[in-house]
Amino acid sequence: MYREEDYLQLSGIQHFAFCRRQWALIHVEQQWEENFHTADGRLMHENAHNSEFREKRGNIIIIRGMRVSSAEYGISGECDVVELHRDDQKGININGLEGNYIVKPIEYKRGTLKSSDCDYVQLCAQVLCLEEMLCCDIKEGCLYYGQPKKRTVVLMSETLRAKTKQLLGEMHELYKRKYTPKVHSNKSCNSCSLKNICVPEIEKRSALTYIHDMINERSDL
Ligand code: SF4
Repeated sequence: MYREEDYLQLSGIQHFAFCRRQWALIHVEQQWEENFHTADGRLMHENAHNSEFREKRGNIIIIRGMRVSSAEYGISGECDVVELHRDDQKGININGLEGNYIVKPIEYKRGTLKSSDCDYVQLCAQVLCLEEMLCCDIKEGCLYYGQPKKRTVVLMSETLRAKTKQLLGEMHELYKRKYTPKVHSNKSCNSCSLKNICVPEIEKRSALTYIHDMINERSDL
């Protein structure tokens, strides 16, 4: 069990799965640079969180901006949306509500379904928190992508759970060591919001050659 002061930001797992160096620059060194993708994503999240309230639509209760945490995995954060689907047979009782409910988190994402599992592990980390807080089993959640506006159901398989727990363990390990991994440039670097801070080009040249090249490039202007 982690102490509350050692909790890491839940949403950081998507950065960690994308690139461990990016995660360390944001969460260990507290550097952040906004680009179109992050600004657009932030606006979409603000819309999902626009009023922290409960709404009832038929048999579904919708909770926006729900705070979640897990002492077992040492994380805390917010779920964009948590839906409670009334199901008196298979659901669980939730304090203050009549009947039983199946719990389903929905995470909003800009863009299209990605081939990497960054969004999946973030959703799974939310599920781990909700299961611990509500003492329940959650079989699936959803990712809602902006293009096209569509939900994708994500099953909480043992493989996905194992991967998520492994990443969370590694995050705590790096955070404890305050370690920022070295650059390993890859195709993700093109869309990375921290490209200008990370400077992945430096991997291919020595620091001295890089500075020389920068000076020469500027004197050619
Ligand atoms: S530019 Fe590349 S190596 Fe650097 S933080 Fe971004 S993804 Fe990682």
